[in-house]
Amino acid sequence: MRTFHIYARLTHKYRAGWAELDRHEYVTTLRLTAPKLLSIDDDGTKDRIVHGRISAKQREQARKVWEKLPRQGRAPFKQWLCAAVSEAFDYGCRCEHDCCGHYQNHAMARMYGRNVVVKVHSYRNI
Ligand SMILES: [Zn+2]
Repeated sequence: MRTFHIYARLTHKYRAGWAELDRHEYVTTLRLTAPKLLSIDDDGTKDRIVHGRISAKQREQARKVWEKLPRQGRAPFKQWLCAAVSEAFDYGCRCEHDCCGHYQNHAMARMYGRNVVVKVHSYRNI
């Protein structure tokens, strides 16, 4: 199990490779397994899966952050938390040109009760 600090992205001014320049707020900390490879194609495209659990204390910590957000335009709590977890795994390079060959990650987190499942799709920019 590895510890992941989850931050909610409060602004969306920058694209993927520069997302850390947007404003973020600490949400909670999760203990997650290392990514497990599900499949890999000849071109290096791969799908991985990460499992974990969220404790009642962690969930309460996240809810306190969510409750401080403006109600108007706020996603439902579970959807908002899943988006924050997903973004912890998203990655895009900063190259100005396509075909650089770097991996780009797109993640989708789901929660089933206290279980957290994150599917990470990675592909090379070729
Ligand atoms: Zn690149």
